[in-house]
Amino acid sequence: MTLPAAAFSPSSDFVTACYIVAFSLFIIGVRQGTHPTTARRGNLIAAGGMAIAVAITLSLDVIGNGVLILIGILIGALVGAVASRRVQMTQMPQMVALYNGVGGGAAALIAWAEFRHQLALGGDIPLDVMIPILFSAVIGSVSFWGSNIAFAKLQELISGRPIGFPGQHIVNAVLLAAILAGCVVLSANHDSSPSQGLFIAVLIAAAILGNLFVLPIGGADMPVVISLLNAFTGLAAAAAGFALDNVVLIVAGTLVGSSGTILTIAMSRAMNRSIGNLLFSGFGAVATGAAAGGEERPVTSIGAQDAAIKLAYADSVVFVPGYGMAVAQAQHAVKELANELEKHGVRVAFAIHPVAGRMPGHMNVLLAEADVPYEQLKEMDEINPEMPQTDVAVVIGANDVTNPAAKNDPSSPIAGMPIIEVNEAREVIVIKRSLSPGFAGIDNDLFYEPNTSMLFSDAKQAAADIAWEVQEL
Ligand code: NDP
Repeated sequence: MTLPAAAFSPSSDFVTACYIVAFSLFIIGVRQGTHPTTARRGNLIAAGGMAIAVAITLSLDVIGNGVLILIGILIGALVGAVASRRVQMTQMPQMVALYNGVGGGAAALIAWAEFRHQLALGGDIPLDVMIPILFSAVIGSVSFWGSNIAFAKLQELISGRPIGFPGQHIVNAVLLAAILAGCVVLSANHDSSPSQGLFIAVLIAAAILGNLFVLPIGGADMPVVISLLNAFTGLAAAAAGFALDNVVLIVAGTLVGSSGTILTIAMSRAMNRSIGNLLFSGFGAVATGAAAGGEERPVTSIGAQDAAIKLAYADSVVFVPGYGMAVAQAQHAVKELANELEKHGVRVAFAIHPVAGRMPGHMNVLLAEADVPYEQLKEMDEINPEMPQTDVAVVIGANDVTNPAAKNDPSSPIAGMPIIEVNEAREVIVIKRSLSPGFAGIDNDLFYEPNTSMLFSDAKQAAADIAWEVQEL
């Protein structure tokens, strides 16, 4: 059956029906993404929705330059496929930053193209088109440039420390005021060929603001910033959808905008910090105690054999994974160790802190990859009351998320952040390579507690060594 040419007019019922199918698939995909068992399928479903949306949009009778579009799609698909195959799990946040930036940049370019298109039509741009164009251009530009800085910080192309100058917040405020003033002037002249030069000046000011906004934020807070910029990109795309009168872009942009906002709020809550504090303070910049080269305190250091004895004769063991487990790719070795302990009749659980690692759900993803049963994964609120009855808590490459200073020291940079209370367990074994600090750059009193033993090693090596020793018992 062939469809009549009129079916591919942007306003036809056929196109609208296809768009409804596409964004229904986005919504189902996002919903399925909320649980590890269905997340992979959710991704495929949403990608299917996007394929429908792209195919239908490209077949619209208003679309020209087919060859140019095809070349762009091929280059983008090639870069995306190679990058996603090569990227390490620990590099995922910067990859998200880069992709998010590209989305914001695309929204800003669409806004600029639509502005030029409207000028070519005679320059009388309706206000309900002009405002979304400006919104999309400004927010998209901020998101593009801000995401690039976030990428450069996480990839260590530039320093992860806060970079700024005195009075930077004032400069940012002045820039923002100038951008708003430019947008007001452009909107006021919407019916008489608004100045293209002013539009470009607004775009450039937004680009500078995007850079200056993210540079002073410490590398440690980048994942939260990326999630916020992600929300910006979504809003910019939704605004572009209003300017182009494209329903699927409006829905997709709104979904990204709201998911990014919810994620930003969830992450800042899990770190017990306000979004304002995350964005306008230089967290992660200050090292204290041994971390800052201060006074050295004694620790108890043990080897794999001692650890194996403590673990194999315990009734209950709780593993507390953190960023170091991801770096060492130790999840399979840890799962093997858990299996060995279970053979000795030990009850095993895994405690998941909401901000362990470097991205939301980082530990869930790694442990799911190693086939750790979901029943063994315990959220922080569920495991903490069980800690006093736990024989041994094994901290694997985690640091900040177990640091008692968050509870005990109101002056600590992580004060108020909820932690996995491993210090309440009867014994604690901490596996890491040294006494170096984690993300927040601060010393951890846990290491010096009388019931804590340090096993200085790479997490994967240590888990394999302990498992071997347990087998030998
Ligand atoms: P941390 O960054 O606090 O500590 C990780 C520890 O892993 C380091 O102290 C390091 O010590 C150790 N480590 C590194 N490589 C290895 C290895 N190969 N083998 C063994 N150990 C290793 O991690 P946590 O997961 O405890 O805390 C996460 C931090 O990230 C928190 O501060 C949180 O606020 C922050 N954060 C997390 C976000 C998220 O979404 N998850 C978002 C934003 C921030 P050593 O070098 O001695 O081995």
